[in-house]
Amino acid sequence: MLRRKLLLITIALLFSTLACRAATRLIVPDTPTPLPPTAAPPTPTLIPPTPTPTLPAEASCPVQVADILEASLNFESSSDESLEDEIYLVTYRVDGNDLGDPFFESVPTKFRDEQDDRVAHEEIWSLFTSLIPPEERDFIVGFAIITDGGSDVLASVGQSEDNAEEWLLEVDILDSDDRRALTFTLLHEFAHLMTLNSSQVPPNLAVFGDPSNDEIYQRELAACPNYFPGEGCSNSDSYVNQFFDRFWFNLYAEWQEIDVIEDKDEYYDQLDDFYNKYDDQFLSNYSATSPAEDIAEAFAFFILSPKPPADSIANQKILFFHEFPELMQLRGHILNQLCVEFPQ
Ligand SMILES: [Zn+2]
Repeated sequence: MLRRKLLLITIALLFSTLACRAATRLIVPDTPTPLPPTAAPPTPTLIPPTPTPTLPAEASCPVQVADILEASLNFESSSDESLEDEIYLVTYRVDGNDLGDPFFESVPTKFRDEQDDRVAHEEIWSLFTSLIPPEERDFIVGFAIITDGGSDVLASVGQSEDNAEEWLLEVDILDSDDRRALTFTLLHEFAHLMTLNSSQVPPNLAVFGDPSNDEIYQRELAACPNYFPGEGCSNSDSYVNQFFDRFWFNLYAEWQEIDVIEDKDEYYDQLDDFYNKYDDQFLSNYSATSPAEDIAEAFAFFILSPKPPADSIANQKILFFHEFPELMQLRGHILNQLCVEFPQ
């Protein structure tokens, strides 16, 4: 789930370089020295290739990975708490794999235990860092523990207040008991970071500087020839724009009519109808929320599902990611880590 923008008071400005994709290696062939015509044909000297790490096409622990997907599809929060708005319990500054400088908000007494539970906070963060390689998350500057009770938001990401190229991850601690469902959620949130970071979607500073100004938003949206997820105009070759062109081009006008409905009940009714009308195109009902949510859901399914046949548009959304060697490499890494995190 994606929020517009997060407030963060304690974050120091950190400038980060963005992840580079799969490196290509240039192999220069040996040039044989010319020999007299009578000599034996030259034997080219072969340079043994540097071994590249081989990652599995599928998980070595398929049962556990299937369980993660299953648990997330059936997830219901164990908390019956319900809050009108989400509240921040504590926000950490992120330094690589480490959490530091906790900033504690003033919270209702009933949430003090959750606020002080550093061990639980570290466990959530450590699950995220074990799955996602550091170079894929070096623009994350903050990690917040939040709650809105046992409903609605499970986790979200947003640009930091100070710098449109820096991001924060926040997780609802009351929804994080089920480690398998949490894993799916963290993969979904990472997909937002992967598809919306500034190398994919250059931030629109007019919108960033005045996020509630609809006039500016509409102007910038109209000026964008590609998919405009809200953070900016996506690059033509970005994952999200390619996904949009392939899967949303024909649905977008219909979806936009729903997206502008202000009455919440009416909006959710219409969105449900939209999902039901095209349910063979979506991997989950949440996918119909927007193209940005659809690609995030599809990415989590891509990591956690065996390669499916191309027999539905929903499955083609999983197969979309199989076309990118760097994402297959990433998938292999995450699957290996999942088998470590969820031993038999
Ligand atoms: Zn989302």
